[in-house]
Amino acid sequence: MIIDSHQHFVRLARHPDVEGFRQAQLAGKNPDALPNISDADVRKSLEQVVSLMESRGIDVAFASPRAKAMATHEGTVEQNAVWADLNNSLISRACQLAPGRFVPVGMLGQHPSCPSAEVAKQIERWAKEGFVAFNFDPDGTGGRWQNQPFTGKHNYPVFEAAQGLDVPLVLHGSESINKNFPHTAVQYLVADITGFVQLMMAKDLFRDFPRLRFLVPHGGGALPCQIGRWRAIAKYSNWASPDKILGDGNVFVDTCVYNQLNMQMLFEAVPLDSILFGSECDGAFPGVVSEETNDHYDNTRRYVDGSKLSGADKDRIYAANARRVYLRASRWIHA
Ligand SMILES: [Zn+2]
Repeated sequence: MIIDSHQHFVRLARHPDVEGFRQAQLAGKNPDALPNISDADVRKSLEQVVSLMESRGIDVAFASPRAKAMATHEGTVEQNAVWADLNNSLISRACQLAPGRFVPVGMLGQHPSCPSAEVAKQIERWAKEGFVAFNFDPDGTGGRWQNQPFTGKHNYPVFEAAQGLDVPLVLHGSESINKNFPHTAVQYLVADITGFVQLMMAKDLFRDFPRLRFLVPHGGGALPCQIGRWRAIAKYSNWASPDKILGDGNVFVDTCVYNQLNMQMLFEAVPLDSILFGSECDGAFPGVVSEETNDHYDNTRRYVDGSKLSGADKDRIYAANARRVYLRASRWIHA
């Protein structure tokens, strides 16, 4: 079995009625009625991704709302709670309309002025609906990085809910207000790097929440290239080493890196039990072809298959690790 732990329902999020609803919200109109998206439209939005999954031999994907469109630095606390609920309800419907294919991962209405106790309530609500994890933006200010490090006590209600319900938090960035930092090329990777380093810096976090689990996407940002630097600064500054937080079972990364060399570096830098297969299938750069493979860059299965790992190690990365880290996913996975 192959589980893609990192996918977004981008086409569903780009439905004109969904985008129109958000635009109306941000224009201050606060529509009373949520958009009425038909089952046929939801199914149609899944066609392309299901076809790619079939051609790549991916059985199941953990799918969340479009990351750029989370954009909870905009709007108000109340608007973002509604926006998160709308997106999560669409994810839930899509997963139910394609049984056995998708597992729901939610977004959270993290406005900078939203008390984290309210965010925790959203985790509780959607975990009850079967959601197995949640995207958590370590910035949440649109690339301004104006908040305190996300690992602080101000977010403890979120961590209590996540640990109590056994739902990992995926440290995923969102929209950037700064044109110097395009979201997919820079802001997401800055969120990965910043999130990972903040976890190294957090002295009390895993003592207070020993079963809390984070997934740092996109291969952990710069992790395959810069783990040596982070090992050094951890000693220099008395932080937890990258090897410790990865080895203790609190922090995991995915395989969303788009070439063979960096995939190999990822496998050498990170314990194999801490790596989950991910491809963002049809998400980040749809249809863009690599000259290295004559296939889509984001067909990351090629790089895992092409590595020197044993079959047993590949199986861990393809499915076993995801099932161990996302403990609530089994009800959605038929095989
Ligand atoms: Zn993503």
